[in-house]
Amino acid sequence: MTELNQRIRLAARPVGIPKPEDFLQDEVPIPEPREGELLLRTLYLSLDPYMRGRMSDAKSYAKPLAIGDVMVGGTVAEIVVSKAPGFRAGQLVVAYGGWQSFSIAKPRELRVLDPDAAPVTTALGVLGMPGFTAYAGLLAIGRPREGETVAVAAASGPVGATVGQLAKLNGCTAVGIAGGPEKVAYLKTIGFDVALDHRAGDLRASLKEAVPQGIDVYFENVGGAVWDAVLPRLNTYARVPVCGLAATYNATKLPEGPDRSGALMGQVLTKSLLLRGFIQSEFYEALHDDFLRDMTRWVRDGKVKYREDITEGLERAPEVFAGMLQGRNFGKAIIKVAD
Ligand code: NDP
Repeated sequence: MTELNQRIRLAARPVGIPKPEDFLQDEVPIPEPREGELLLRTLYLSLDPYMRGRMSDAKSYAKPLAIGDVMVGGTVAEIVVSKAPGFRAGQLVVAYGGWQSFSIAKPRELRVLDPDAAPVTTALGVLGMPGFTAYAGLLAIGRPREGETVAVAAASGPVGATVGQLAKLNGCTAVGIAGGPEKVAYLKTIGFDVALDHRAGDLRASLKEAVPQGIDVYFENVGGAVWDAVLPRLNTYARVPVCGLAATYNATKLPEGPDRSGALMGQVLTKSLLLRGFIQSEFYEALHDDFLRDMTRWVRDGKVKYREDITEGLERAPEVFAGMLQGRNFGKAIIKVAD
């Protein structure tokens, strides 16, 4: 092959929003698979907020990237060479190939896709890790009951949009919080009962007015000022699956103002709140088969809708990634790497 492997690597640990110089782009020969391995050509790369954490060396649930490592990420790819039994060239798979145009994988790292079952990009969004995060976090921790009110922020993204629609399927009122009028209008089209813009006006006041019954499940995707506005609206025995804190991923210092941890613990105590953090992989074994079965059917039947934000060209990944962290994506952020 005369083609080269185009890669994007971590050049420096970002301070605040990642900048172009935090990444290094290069081209190297395409790697050779060994016996039992496969060579994959990346078609689509998923961009996800967790990647910001991997760029930092702060202690976390996953090992940080080393400077010089290829950026990690979920991919939809085509098998180019198979040296593993049971796989053949031309099959489409969901893999973890990272920010590069070719990668080597082992069979246990892959799932073969049926392109007739759903558009293959959905394997990175509603039928992939973000959709599973919504399913597992809402159903296993949030445990919504019919008639309850479920709220979620980053509500037009792949996790939030799925949470809201699952809440509706469970007979709940769905409240979505998103940034900007376009996203808020979109939430209404996918079934949210209430949609609020956290960038416009006083969110605390608009929540009080639009959700007088209070919130029984708050699926926490962002933290920061949105959490401050939601906390007083939580009902007794509310459940809070703590999924992500997108508002703080690029923070370089603690927020201004007095220490509010005492007030938070006061609310947890007096309202018997349940706050439970989770990483989706914790539920993989128990729930992933159920998720794929249920979500594939709901997507096919139009009961769960999804929106994708696809940009062409691997070289644009750094800029699109930084934009996503600031809410410039509208739907699941995906890079189209090859046809
Ligand atoms: P999104 O595509 O929704 O992108 C992140 C969104 O966060 C932005 O679009 C923006 O939406 C919102 N946001 C960013 N900054 C702020 C802010 N200061 N205040 C309020 N909202 C903000 O991401 P995903 O759907 O992929 O992920 C959603 C959350 O789920 C993330 O926190 C992610 O880390 C987490 N997650 C956790 C997993 C787990 O296992 N625990 C697995 C997968 C995801 P808007 O413009 O609407 O404000």
